[in-house]
Amino acid sequence: MIPIDEKIPAKISRLSELAYNLWWSWTLEARELFRRLDFPLWRKTQHNPVLMLQELSPERLEKAAQDAAFIRQYNKVMLMYDREMTNGHSWFHTEHADSVDKTIAYFSFEFGLHNSLPIYSGGLGILSGDHAKEASDLGLPFVGIGFMYPQGYFRQRIPSHGWQEAVYQQLDMGQTAIKPALLPDGQDLKVSVNLAGRTVYARVWQVRVGRISLYLLDTDVDDNDPWDRELSARLYSGDSEMRIRQEIMLGIGGVRVLRALGINPSVCHMNEGHSAFLLLECIRENVSQGMNFDDALKKVQAQTVFTTHTPVPAGHDTFSFHMVENYFNGFWDEIGISRERFLGLGGHEEEWGMAFNMTVLALRLAGKSNAVSQLHGEVSRRMWQEVWPSNRVKDVPILGITNGVHVPTWISSDWHELFDKTLGPEWRSRHDDPAIWQRLADISDRELWEVHLILKRKLMGFLRERVRRSWVGGQNDPTQVLTSGTLLDPDALTIGFARRFATYKRANLIFRDFERLQRMLLDIHRPVQIIFAGKAHPADDPGKALIQQIYNMAKNNRLGGRIAFVEDYDMHMARYLVQGVDVWLNTPRRPREASGTSGMKASLNGVPNLSVMDGWWVEGYNGANGWAINSEENTDHNMQDEKDANLLYQLLEDEIVPLYYTRDGDGVPRGWSELMREAIRSNAHQFSMRRMVKEYTTELYLPAMND
Ligand SMILES: *Cc1c(COP(=O)(O)O)cnc(C)c1O
Repeated sequence: MIPIDEKIPAKISRLSELAYNLWWSWTLEARELFRRLDFPLWRKTQHNPVLMLQELSPERLEKAAQDAAFIRQYNKVMLMYDREMTNGHSWFHTEHADSVDKTIAYFSFEFGLHNSLPIYSGGLGILSGDHAKEASDLGLPFVGIGFMYPQGYFRQRIPSHGWQEAVYQQLDMGQTAIKPALLPDGQDLKVSVNLAGRTVYARVWQVRVGRISLYLLDTDVDDNDPWDRELSARLYSGDSEMRIRQEIMLGIGGVRVLRALGINPSVCHMNEGHSAFLLLECIRENVSQGMNFDDALKKVQAQTVFTTHTPVPAGHDTFSFHMVENYFNGFWDEIGISRERFLGLGGHEEEWGMAFNMTVLALRLAGKSNAVSQLHGEVSRRMWQEVWPSNRVKDVPILGITNGVHVPTWISSDWHELFDKTLGPEWRSRHDDPAIWQRLADISDRELWEVHLILKRKLMGFLRERVRRSWVGGQNDPTQVLTSGTLLDPDALTIGFARRFATYKRANLIFRDFERLQRMLLDIHRPVQIIFAGKAHPADDPGKALIQQIYNMAKNNRLGGRIAFVEDYDMHMARYLVQGVDVWLNTPRRPREASGTSGMKASLNGVPNLSVMDGWWVEGYNGANGWAINSEENTDHNMQDEKDANLLYQLLEDEIVPLYYTRDGDGVPRGWSELMREAIRSNAHQFSMRRMVKEYTTELYLPAMND
């Protein structure tokens, strides 16, 4: 194959630079540029410009370079790009000019940036990816540290018996937007850590995300034994031994990456406890330079920030003391404390006895901690009060900073174009300002409704094309074709439910009264249909059983093809779903949903939420922008489910279905359009990643920088 840079004509030579900076993925004009280059190939590569440039023939590229309209678009995009890559005008440079020389290092196990880089599994990863993109948009001095998993997270297949299968695919590193990270002298960057007496190496990949970079560790190198090479092969697979090895590599190896690059962050942000070993490494560095442990601890405390993500106890990594001793034997001597005190740093009473809890380690040692919604803040303060035994619950220092979503990533291009026209182009830079969204009043009901119909059609087309492709490829039997949405009706009220299949999310709640649901789905005048998607963790059999149960509903002819289960939920599909369904459903067992973000993506696209009052919806619901399933918490799960299911049916039967099908003479549902407008108006700014990153900056980063 001809190298990309040799075959691209000079006139459009910077296309490859653009392809290697994920900035293109959240910039409407840049996406449009690649789409124009070769639309069928754009679709075939699932919007991967690196792969597309590799596959394009020199002739096709030459033709593009001769096309005046293409050149105009190219010049426009490169002008935008060059302006974006300079910092001077950014929010951070304007508002916090005296801190621009500091660095915030953000550590996360997963980053969900784009489908072509499958190093994420779900909500946590998407949040990290969105955070990195917004850090670029706002001009934060920011760098990310994570893993490059050559096999990523698994792809989901659902055979006709409904039991999820996991397929791992080796990623071709040359076909995605990563490059080897280089040291200032041009050498490849490599770091090592000690894992129970063996030295394990990692090479480092660099990803450009607008103005900022992520550095991703990868242990698949020749210096390592086969077992160590596998360390970063996959996300969230393997046992607790594998997990502690990964976490040592991320926390300790990650700090070493920064040092090798000459980066001395003023703030280290641990997104989840996975990276909390970085605290120990930073303490060790200070002690090795002559500080005592307590002073080193104080110094590290001042510079670290920790975000906890779940109130579900099993969601917090814990390791047996025995295992921790095995990997940290002697480390306590290096930092000048006893073995007992060392183990005590993460010591926590678990159901199975005392163990080393990564969340406790992070809470004890990080200077500032936060939870991801206001309700989750309350729950976390109660849950972790024991870490501050002398504090009352309300004084436990865990802030609530509610999550958000990166608006340019999640807004559909159809809304984007309409907003450019009607809200004025400044909506892009001011989308966290509520005043901008008051201008939605200038958009007519008909215009809102028509955009929504376009998006709904795109969703149905997307689902059909996916099924057709696997059918043609011989990967599907007829049952699978039937269950994947081929019988969906573009005119029926469409509910979307897509998320990780953990049991507390109660994906099957809506099936609790089969006959009652059946009546709604099969109503000849006002039919309802539901699209499900989501993966269960490979080790979560109850989660897989839930998928199977719903899959069987999709197969059940008594429900008339009005239930679909679409396999292999990912970011690409998420965009179509949150933009194209009519209602976004969320039925977690309160208060286990720490925040949830897919509902924010839906609201942003004018898709109202129908949700249990949990996570972000406690703050997002205002009585006119969706519906709340609001019942008292009950420790008897069966009774709680019964009550919540009843409320859910009532809302659908009495409010949602009638409102959706009440049309004016011109076919526009006036009440529904008003609801869509209100969903966007009230939620878009408040649950934007921009609002969130500004809060992290003022509440956490700046105080740590100035400490
Ligand atoms: C947004 C998103 C999530 C998170 O959704 P929740 O509502 O938090 O469950 C998970 N997976 C994908 C692919 C997403 O885009």
